Amino acid sequence: MAEAKRDYYEVLGVPKNADDAALKKAYRVLAKKYHPDMNPNNPEAEKKFKEASEAYAVLSDPDKRRQYDQFGHAAFENGAGGFGGFDFNSMDFSDIFGDLFGDFFGGGRSRRGNYNGPTKGANVRTSVRISFKDAVFGCDKELDLNLKETCKTCGGSGAKPGTAPETCTKCGGKGQVVMTSQTLFGMMQNVQTCPDCHGIGKIIRDKCPDCHGNGYIPERKKIQVSIPAGIDNGQSVRIREKGEPGLNGGPRGDLLVEVVVQRHEIFERQDTNIFSVAPISFAQATLGGEVLIETIDGKVAYDVKPGTQTGTRVRLKGKGVPSLRNKQVRGDQYVTLEVQVPNKLNSEAKELLRRFDELTGNTLHSTDDYRDKKKRGFFGKS
Ligand SMILES: [Zn+2]
Ligand SMILES: [Zn+2]
Repeated sequence: MAEAKRDYYEVLGVPKNADDAALKKAYRVLAKKYHPDMNPNNPEAEKKFKEASEAYAVLSDPDKRRQYDQFGHAAFENGAGGFGGFDFNSMDFSDIFGDLFGDFFGGGRSRRGNYNGPTKGANVRTSVRISFKDAVFGCDKELDLNLKETCKTCGGSGAKPGTAPETCTKCGGKGQVVMTSQTLFGMMQNVQTCPDCHGIGKIIRDKCPDCHGNGYIPERKKIQVSIPAGIDNGQSVRIREKGEPGLNGGPRGDLLVEVVVQRHEIFERQDTNIFSVAPISFAQATLGGEVLIETIDGKVAYDVKPGTQTGTRVRLKGKGVPSLRNKQVRGDQYVTLEVQVPNKLNSEAKELLRRFDELTGNTLHSTDDYRDKKKRGFFGKS
C-alpha cells in the first residue's frame, strides 16, 4: 500500500504562515542533515532529503504554494511522474542548491567533483500563457526564446582559437581544494571551491573574443511545445534536451515550460471539474423545462425540474476537464442555477403576476410567516 504523503509544512516543521526566510532556514537545516553527500548509502536519509526538497520546491514557489494550500497534494497529482506536471523525481534542484549551499557544498555547477566527465546542462525554465479552453483541450504553442548555443568560434572551450584552457594548478583540475585548520576539537578538514578557477578546474588565459570565455552564445530559437489536454495552471511541460548545453559532451539540460492559464469569464476549474452559474427565468424555475447551458463544448440542453429553487446545483456529467493521464476520462461540470427575479415588467405582465399571487394564496409576506410555515412543513418537507 502506498504511504500517505506527509503535509509539506509538517515535513519542514514550519507553521502554515511561515515566510520565505523561515522556509529557507528550515529546509537548509534538513537538507544539510539528510543530503546524500553527507549520508552515503543511506536510503532513509535520501528519502527524507527528497521529501524535504519537494516540500521546499513547492512552498518556496508562490503559485505552487497557493495551489497546495488550496488543494493539498491533489494539486499536483495529475502530473506526478507523467508527461505534464510536476516531475519531482527528475526535478532539478540545482538552483535551490546554488542558492542555499553555495558555501557549503562547494557551489559551482557540479557538486560531485567530477569536473572532467560529461555533465548534463542546466535546465531552463520559461512560461507560456494559454487560454482556459486550450488548457482543457490541449494545444500547440511556439515559444520564441534565447537559448545558449555552443560558441562556434571556440567550440565551447571559451579559449581564444589557437589556445586551450589550462588545467588549474591550484586544484589540479578538481575544482575543489581541501583546507586543513586547527580547531579546539582537533584538525578539521574542509572542502572548498577552488579560489583560482572558481570550481571549473580550468583556467582560460586568452578568452574567446566572441563568447568572452563563456563557451556559449545566446541564440533566438523557436521551440514547439505541445501542451497536453487537461493541464492546469502552474503545471509544467518538460521538453527534453532544450535547456543549456552540456559540459564535456554531456546532454543538454531540459526546458521546463510552466503553463499559466488565463481565467475564463464564466468557468472556474477545480481539478478536473468545471463550475459555472447559469441564469434561469422565474417561469422556467417554477414550471420546469428545457434551458440551454453553456459548457466548454458549447451550449447543451438541460431539463430543469419544476419547482427548482435558486442556488440548486446540477451536474453535467463528462463536461469537465480531461484527465492528464487519459484524455478520454473527463470530469464533470457543476452548474448553479440562479433564478432571475424579473425587474422590468410591462403592465400586462405585472397584472398577470398579481393575479398569480392571488391564485397561489398570497403566501409569503414576511420572514415570520416563512419561518412559521417551514415549521409546519408547509413546503412539503418537515
Ligand atoms: Zn567562444
Ligand atoms: Zn582550481
